[in-house]
Amino acid sequence: MRTTHWIGGKPWHGVAERTGDVYDPATGQVAGQVDFATTAVVDEAVAAAREAFTRWRAASLAQRTNVLFAFRELLNARRADLAAIITAEHGKVLSDAAGEIQRGLENVEFACGIPQQLKGGYSENASTQVDVYSLRQPLGVVGVISPFNFPAMVPLWFVPNAIACGNTVVLKPSEKDPSAANFLAELFAEAGLPDGVCNVVHGDKEAVDRILEHPRVKAVSFVGSTPIARYVYQTGARHGKRVQALGGAKNHMVVLPDADLDLAADAAVSAGFGSAGERCMAISAVVAVDPVGDELVAKISERMAALHVGDGRRPGCEMGPLVTGAHRDRVTAYLDAGRAAGAQLVVDGRNHPVDGEQGGFWLGPTLFDHVDTDMSVYTDEIFGPVLSVLRVPSYDAAVELVNANPWGNGTAIFTNDGGAARRYQHEIEVGMVGVNVPIPVPVSYYSFGGWKDSLFGDAHAYGPEGVNFFVRSKVVTSRWPDPSYGGVNLGFPQNR
Ligand code: NAD
Repeated sequence: MRTTHWIGGKPWHGVAERTGDVYDPATGQVAGQVDFATTAVVDEAVAAAREAFTRWRAASLAQRTNVLFAFRELLNARRADLAAIITAEHGKVLSDAAGEIQRGLENVEFACGIPQQLKGGYSENASTQVDVYSLRQPLGVVGVISPFNFPAMVPLWFVPNAIACGNTVVLKPSEKDPSAANFLAELFAEAGLPDGVCNVVHGDKEAVDRILEHPRVKAVSFVGSTPIARYVYQTGARHGKRVQALGGAKNHMVVLPDADLDLAADAAVSAGFGSAGERCMAISAVVAVDPVGDELVAKISERMAALHVGDGRRPGCEMGPLVTGAHRDRVTAYLDAGRAAGAQLVVDGRNHPVDGEQGGFWLGPTLFDHVDTDMSVYTDEIFGPVLSVLRVPSYDAAVELVNANPWGNGTAIFTNDGGAARRYQHEIEVGMVGVNVPIPVPVSYYSFGGWKDSLFGDAHAYGPEGVNFFVRSKVVTSRWPDPSYGGVNLGFPQNR
């Protein structure tokens, strides 16, 4: 199967100079090729988006929201088809793929209510016979660059809001699982979105660099690893663009001695191994406050043994393979590195039974105990099914440990003490906090964003901050002349 770009409302018809392999991670087989965009192809997409912008920015709010409501219905009806596409290229199990679509749909629903978000202000008689009012207008062509781990949800964080605000889009999804983006673009076309409003280009650094440098691209929303997020932010800003670049993570779950340890163990396993740990909000570090360590580790290990790992299309599978063989090998190398550094390998994922073909990119759930903050299993974002337990003597030591970490995407505290939870939410330097909730991804009418090295830029993604990112404001001061205007006056205008 060949996946190509979607430009101006139709598939691209050129011959690609470069392509990449797309795998079925559950079999390890190459399932198809994806075309990589050159600078010229990105230019073609930006030109289509720029041309469409003139008309789309003038489309009424009713026309825009009609498209979004239709898109919402189509996506809802076809969610099983999209989930199958995601599982085939990413590897996550079907129920998890359906979950990411559901969260994506919530962002579409938010965008359906865009008229409420785009209301400006109006001040009658700011000065005598003078009114002042503000407008929220689109930016123009915006770039969206997304990671492999949420091939539908992350594009849906940005594209619906961007177009609802009147922008046109060039989306560059991950080259590892490119097909979901085309599925969404085709669905938008079916929903009545005019040609050129949503374009998809595939590829790697060459395509990204052109989006970052193109003078017609006014803003870039990026999600991916921290080094690339930092690069995208700096390069885009250097070229005069508005940029929001969401990066990687190391998410801590602090378990206090008074917590319900069964609830905490369930949460650690769900949030550590869901999607094989390939989530930016996955829990990768459990911080056990004395004396709960031994009991918590025992409860977590017991639950891990029961996990059904295998081909995400097979019934009952809870955790699929990793996205590529290279990524699986990189993650697996941490098992030896952690042990060599002195951590205790309590559960070795290489021994976990697998319900899938031998060539798949498998690694079962893995647990380290007695991890220290200087070990690579802790300092690096592993992005796989590897959970580390760190032990600390007190609540204060737990807070100090979490705040010293360079990332600040998500965190959770497990406790039955409301006062401790309230203190934690106040003191912790992390953008999204869960209280007895391990993956605190905000609902679509709040905004999503980490602190520190987990986000570069001012605006968080989606929700009200996401809308702010996609509009610029204009303030109009207006007078309808009447005889009282007073004639020539060279003084600086004053309000009377
Ligand atoms: P990645 O950084 O490798 O790739 C992200 C995007 O950048 C892709 O579209 C890719 O093609 C492009 N890219 C890769 N290398 C590039 C380069 N050198 N120059 C320009 N562009 C480049 O990330 P990934 O492996 O696809 O996704 C996993 C990462 O994303 C993890 O670090 C995860 O924590 C992070 N992530 C963060 C969030 C968040 O909201 N903070 C959400 C999802 C994923």
